Amino acid sequence: MIMAKNILDFRSDERLKKIPFFKYHPNPFLTEAFQELSEPEKCECCGKDTLIKYTGGIYAVEEVDCLCPECISDGSAAERFDGEFQDGYSVDKIIDPDGSKIDELIHKTPGYRGIQQECWRAHCNDFCAFLGYVGAEELRELGIYNAAIDNDRWTEEQKENLLKNMVNGGWVQGYLFQCLHCGRYLIWVDYD
Ligand SMILES: [Zn+2]
Ligand SMILES: [Zn+2]
Repeated sequence: MIMAKNILDFRSDERLKKIPFFKYHPNPFLTEAFQELSEPEKCECCGKDTLIKYTGGIYAVEEVDCLCPECISDGSAAERFDGEFQDGYSVDKIIDPDGSKIDELIHKTPGYRGIQQECWRAHCNDFCAFLGYVGAEELRELGIYNAAIDNDRWTEEQKENLLKNMVNGGWVQGYLFQCLHCGRYLIWVDYD
């Protein structure tokens, strides 16, 4: 799992100039959802050579090995493979009358890799930005431990048991999100 270094300062990453902006996954290089290649590979959707490849999962019938960032961003990869990058049932509930937010999240946003089931957090009636993989130590170093665990999703007992054991790359893994509207940090936790 990727260390949380720079996780809150993701916007300064020069590599972001090379890809479309994903508001729900703003630095997919830092989270390793995208990998830079030394040799170009062919995107299986648009057929063009790409030097940046999606390494995350897609829920689709076909096996898909190489997708370029553009084909994820414009929705063409999800359409072509009838796939989703995030399970649309495993998200916090929001009110989304025209379905545009859920469409952007599951069809036009690179996913992340959970140990069991990736859940996408929401706040202020919108999906949050996924910032990266964290443990309790990283949250403390970033100065957001209390903010991130002050979370009505968890009972007091769950907080004690899970959060004290949450180690980046360990058996209890944390996933850090930030609300796009009020800036609040939220986490999701799963375990082996
Ligand atoms: Zn492509
Ligand atoms: Zn909010």
